[in-house]
Amino acid sequence: MKPQAQEKPTPRRCVFCAEEISAPSVEDAENLRRFTSSHSKILPRKKTGICAKHQRHLARAIKQARELGYLSYTGQ
Ligand SMILES: [Zn+2]
Repeated sequence: MKPQAQEKPTPRRCVFCAEEISAPSVEDAENLRRFTSSHSKILPRKKTGICAKHQRHLARAIKQARELGYLSYTGQ
C-alpha cells in the first residue's frame, strides 16, 4: 500500500505565464512590491508560486527598481 497524501496540493500557476507577460516592468513598482516582504526582501518561489524563469526576471526587475529608486532596499 502506498502512503496516501493527506491533502491534495492545489495546482498553482505562475501569474506571469497565465497573463502571458514576458517580464514584469521595472517601472511598475506597485506590481513588483507584491512580490517583496514587509522588509523589502524578494519573496521565494515557494511563496509566490512563480515559475523559475519568471522568478529570475522578477528578481532582476526588483533589483533594478531598487537601484532606480522605485522600491526601497529596507522597507518602511
Ligand atoms: Zn512563468
